[in-house]
Amino acid sequence: LKSIGVLTSGGDSPGMNAALRAVVRTALFEGVKVWGIYNGYRGLLDEEMEEMTSRSVSDIIQRGGTILGTARCKRFMTEEGRMQAYENMKKRGIEGLVIIGGDGSLRGATQLSLETGVPIVGLPGTIDNDVWGTDYTIGCDTAANTIIDAINKLRDTASSHNRIAVVEVMGRHCGWLAMLAGIAGGAEFILVPEEEYNLDDICSGIIKSYEQGRRYSLIVVAEGVGSSLDIGKYIEEKTNMDVRVSVLGHIQRGGSPSVRDRVKASQLGEKAALALIAGQSDVVFGFNQGKVVAIDLHDAITNKKHMNDEFIRLAKQLN
Ligand code: ATP
Repeated sequence: LKSIGVLTSGGDSPGMNAALRAVVRTALFEGVKVWGIYNGYRGLLDEEMEEMTSRSVSDIIQRGGTILGTARCKRFMTEEGRMQAYENMKKRGIEGLVIIGGDGSLRGATQLSLETGVPIVGLPGTIDNDVWGTDYTIGCDTAANTIIDAINKLRDTASSHNRIAVVEVMGRHCGWLAMLAGIAGGAEFILVPEEEYNLDDICSGIIKSYEQGRRYSLIVVAEGVGSSLDIGKYIEEKTNMDVRVSVLGHIQRGGSPSVRDRVKASQLGEKAALALIAGQSDVVFGFNQGKVVAIDLHDAITNKKHMNDEFIRLAKQLN
């Protein structure tokens, strides 16, 4: 391919800029034109795009969010919308796309490729770590670090007041982020949608640990489990202890990307650009046990990600 486009879509995540920078610089190095498309699929429809130079991606590797902007776009969910997007690409000679986004964005990409034959390479850009076939998504490491920072602070105050701290973290239907942050933050209990739990057992566990001299408890709850406020209320009533619930919210999406996110996003960005230029399509690049892997785009969107059993075991073992 001689001219490609790149966009970020869905929820932003720290490291998207590092991936974008790698895509742009790799393409330019290969002598291929690269178009930056603003605001996800909406920009493709509204023709918000421009040709990128090496300078367009200067001074961005350290920034959170995405300099291209991102959006959720209803029109792209229709075939008519996707045909319009295709026409807008053709007008500029854009022959293929790198899509950096979550599972919804990859689903949209599959539709576009299916209907128009446009070559698509995807990169998993989401803090949720919910994409099948890869044990890493761009931004999940920074988000986990942000959560750890919050957990450390909540621990200080929970221990001073002899309280139970319940921390709700993001991840949509997926418990990976909660599991990673819970293990790293030394949580006593980690509630994820992939694993059944019994609140009564948790309450008796807490009471027992207090009797043995524990001063506070920390429980990490994945948003996919349900309302952490309800969970906190139930625990308060059952244990007769002071509970404070903190819903961390969008703070988890921001911040300067970690070393791990910058490096991995750069590796994935390079791979994506090279694959697309070489004419590959319908593939998502991710990591498996430390190595870059190519995942079939269709598999990535149809399979449901499993929780790592080893993490579940470890979390229980260490609590
Ligand atoms: P995150 O998981 O971080 O929130 P995401 O990529 O899953 O990111 P979505 O809002 O699900 O975020 O999807 C982003 C955009 O992708 C949608 O606004 C829509 O334009 C497009 N999209 C999602 N699903 C489809 C689909 N089935 N067909 C066509 N386009 C889709």
